[in-house]
Order: sequence, then C-alpha cells, then structure tokens
Amino acid sequence: MTHQTTLRQAVSVRGIGLHTGQEVELTLCPAPPDTGYVFRRADLNGFEVAATPRHVTHVSYATTLMRAGVMVSTVEHVLSALYGYGIDNAILDVTNCEVPILDGSARPFVEAIAKAGTLALAAPRQVLRIERRIEVIEGNRRLSIEPDDGFFIESVIDFNHPCIGRQTFACEVTPETYRREIAPARTFGFLAEAETLRKHGLVRGATLENAIVLDAKRILSPEPLRFPDEFARHKALDIVGDFALLGLPLQGRIRAERSGHGLHSALIGRLLREANAWTITGDALTGSAAARAATKAVAALAVHG
Ligand SMILES: [Zn+2]
Repeated sequence: MTHQTTLRQAVSVRGIGLHTGQEVELTLCPAPPDTGYVFRRADLNGFEVAATPRHVTHVSYATTLMRAGVMVSTVEHVLSALYGYGIDNAILDVTNCEVPILDGSARPFVEAIAKAGTLALAAPRQVLRIERRIEVIEGNRRLSIEPDDGFFIESVIDFNHPCIGRQTFACEVTPETYRREIAPARTFGFLAEAETLRKHGLVRGATLENAIVLDAKRILSPEPLRFPDEFARHKALDIVGDFALLGLPLQGRIRAERSGHGLHSALIGRLLREANAWTITGDALTGSAAARAATKAVAALAVHG
C-alpha cells in the first residue's frame, strides 16, 4: 500500500514577492491526511485559503488563489515543489499576500522540503488516473492530458528570440527527476515587457537574480543558464504547480505547447467536469477512504468557469 505523506517538521523560507516586491516569510508545516495544500495568512489571523481549482482567480502572470476576498498569489512554484517531491499534505503559512519568488525556480522550496524530511502517514494515497484524452486549444496554444502508466510531462515552448527558439522537454515526473531535472529551472521575463507590467502593479519585485531576464538579443541575468532548455523545463515546473491543485497525485501524460497558467486552469476545469475522463484509484479505496475521495472529487467539481 502507498501511504499519504506530509513534512516531518516545519521549515521556513524568506524573500520578496515577485509582483508585490514585499518581504514575506513562508513556513511549510506538517498536516494530517486528506488536508491537501492549505495556505494560511498569518497576517490575517490564520485565514485559510485551500489550494483547489475553485479558489483560482488571476492566472495571467501567476496563479492566484482567493477565498472571500482574501488572496494568496504566485503559488505555483511552491505547490510544484510539494507535488513534484511527493508531499501530499501541507499547511503553508504566509505573512503577506504573495509567496516569495526566491531565485525564480522551485529549488529553494525543494531544499527546504528535503531539510524538513518526509513523513509517511497511516492513510492510503489515492491517485487520479486519466481514462480518456482531453484537449484544450486557444489559437496556437494547446494542452492535452491522456492515459499513461505514470505521470509524464512534455512541454514545448516557442519564442522568437535568439536565446530561446523552439525547445522541447519531456520527463516522467518522480520525486527524483523532479528534484534534478525540473525544480532548478528558473522563470523568465523580457525587459521590454517589464515597464508595462510595472504600470499594472506587476513584477515590482523582479530582479536579474529572481528570473532569467532577457532583452531583445541577450540574457541579462548574471547566472548562466542551468540547462540549455531551461525555459521549457520551467514550463514543466509551472504545469506541475498548476496541476497540484487537483489535490491528488496524477497518473497520465500532459502534452503542452506554448501553454500558460490560463490554459492549465482551463484544462483542469474541463477535466473535472468530464467525470468519465478519470477515476480515483487507491489500494484501500473502500469505506471511509472512498467516501473522502468522492467528497474531494465533488468539491473539486465546483470549479470556476
Ligand atoms: Zn513559473
């Protein structure tokens, strides 16, 4: 039997928010079985915002969760780290409205999780298994999910830029491959867009150290690329983070071409509405465990859009 997991102890990281530019501390804490991922605003008396599809609100430049007007933004990299590393349950205390960007990758989160350690819980782990292919298309962007015997991601990005071009990255996502091949890949942004984004209250905390920043011809950030295809790998990192909102480990293959947070959210919405496209499986999926899984699935169905 596979067991659900959580962290062995609490662990904190501190930094600034990519969009707010404000100082924030994030503490990852152990949680009981079937909690999933729940953010707590420490600055608002511990107000809870669960990381589920129905709390997703803004998805243009980062994934933002909101409940009753209280938001937590830029959640995708830390959720990616937890989900990719195989941690099923965690409470995430934040002292501000945005998760720290750190170096723009999931590596600092994975290092924190590794330091805290993994604890196996008594409860069995269920898996969301894809039974039928589903695809969403928006112009030249497409994203699909189909049956497979593990959790696979294929991401293709295509930017008309001399440092990027067309890149393809494919990987079976396991805690080992996630940590080595995906977590270190940094987010990226173009200097030419920064001014406009700042006018809209975005990327106020962006620096050359927390993203790969590019001008029209070159990479401006001092740290060399961590992988030749770091851009496509970061896309895979974001996909893992957005699919973490499903609340269960995934068995299926995701193929993404020029996708972004909006398309990820659209596919998750379609998937959950098409109940014959997936099943929830588990070694001991009987009695109360089955009831919990069903409750979780029904809750997840109340997605936006
Ligand atoms: Zn990202």
